Amino acid sequence: MDPSEPSHVTGKFFIVISHSFLFRAQHSTHALPTKGGTRYSDHIDLQEVEALASLMTFKLAIADVPFGGAKGGVKVDPRKLSEGELERVTRRYTMELIKKGFIGAAVDCLGPDMGTDEQVMTWIKDTYQNVKGETDINSEGCCTGKFIRQGGIAGRTESTGLGVYYAIRELLNSKSFMQKVNGGELGIAGKSFTFQGFGNVGYWAAKFVEQDGGRVTTIVEWDCAIHKEDGFNVEHVKQYMRENKSLIGYDDCDEIEIKNPTSFLEKKVDFLVPAATEKSIHKQNAERIQCKAIFEGANGPTTYAAEEILLKRGIICAPDLLVNGGGVTCSYFEWLKNIDHVSPGKMTKKFDENSQLKLLSLMGYTEMDDQVKGADEIDIVYSALDETMTNAVHANWQYAIDNDLNFRDACLVNAMMKIYNHFKECGISM
Ligand code: NAD
Repeated sequence: MDPSEPSHVTGKFFIVISHSFLFRAQHSTHALPTKGGTRYSDHIDLQEVEALASLMTFKLAIADVPFGGAKGGVKVDPRKLSEGELERVTRRYTMELIKKGFIGAAVDCLGPDMGTDEQVMTWIKDTYQNVKGETDINSEGCCTGKFIRQGGIAGRTESTGLGVYYAIRELLNSKSFMQKVNGGELGIAGKSFTFQGFGNVGYWAAKFVEQDGGRVTTIVEWDCAIHKEDGFNVEHVKQYMRENKSLIGYDDCDEIEIKNPTSFLEKKVDFLVPAATEKSIHKQNAERIQCKAIFEGANGPTTYAAEEILLKRGIICAPDLLVNGGGVTCSYFEWLKNIDHVSPGKMTKKFDENSQLKLLSLMGYTEMDDQVKGADEIDIVYSALDETMTNAVHANWQYAIDNDLNFRDACLVNAMMKIYNHFKECGISM
């Protein structure tokens, strides 16, 4: 097979140019565009990209985001490239996608992933616009995760961690969930949390949990873990990590572990949030994990074998496909902003503000100008993310209860049924 030719039979393609391998796989086109990350990594291959594309289909269906799943990337180590090389790789990759019809707001919308950032996504958008901008009025929506000035959206940075927090908040406020995990009183306040990984997802989720009264008692990084029974000041820890590139030496804690930081995952805690990497909870440590439930911020942090052990011990895993869906949901909002050609809130903010002031003045309240404000882009993103995550969490947890399934299986079956019903209504499946 000539690897430079697209495989239209399967709807996937892979190509080879110069010294790099380029991939893009579209898994399901039941909803368009397809959507998925762009990974720059030495280790990717077509199989991995296809597998990740299929997971995207389910993640999107779980959150009711109306896209099909996709994934792509370049087999390259971005840390070994100069900025100029990275830009050339990105622009060439985008050109190949354009030539094959694999990119565009109506076809396939690329997002960031491991090894790609706002700069890479902005180069992708710029390349696409240079070629297609005059004929595609929605060219800005060909990818998400761009700089805000380039069509990105406020709130994207914290969106995955914020979504993890919304999922935790909703489940800890659910009577049936808390009864099942023996979680005690409803709510986050006073409960203890372990976070593995204090990067984008872990830090933001911990910050919102702390704001809601939760105690972040343990933080596990790859080179160091820290514990404080009263709970950390999350911003203080993050500031230390920013300055020192590590938690080593952080002294406002009860215990610190450098030899075997991962062992702190086994500390007794109410809830554990793995937000670092895959396979952190495996069959060797699953027996020793001491928490009531796990909220998967990372992708694939719990192995199949570990989950079997955890389930036997009554520990529920709220699955990654549901819990960390906030990022892609926010990308959906960015795409909406791009095809709307206007920032959310811009057309109504002042009108809403004035209407509320008028109403208040009719009720006899005057001089309220500094207390009444219409919604900005960030307000709308936060409330729409809250709405999406809250609905998804309750619907999928209820599906698990109604069908007597574990939480992960329930999310997957529910997602597959949505896609099946979609095809059925279109007269395609029976
Ligand atoms: P990140 O690079 O910002 O942070 C990861 C953190 O984990 C870093 O601080 C790193 O030092 C730490 N870490 C790495 N290996 C570790 C280990 N073995 N033990 C403990 N800590 C370790 O990455 P991120 O964006 O926060 O992503 C974290 C996870 O969440 C990944 O699995 C990613 O696929 C998933 N995820 C991220 C997003 C997003 O929008 N960023 C969306 C969905 C899923």
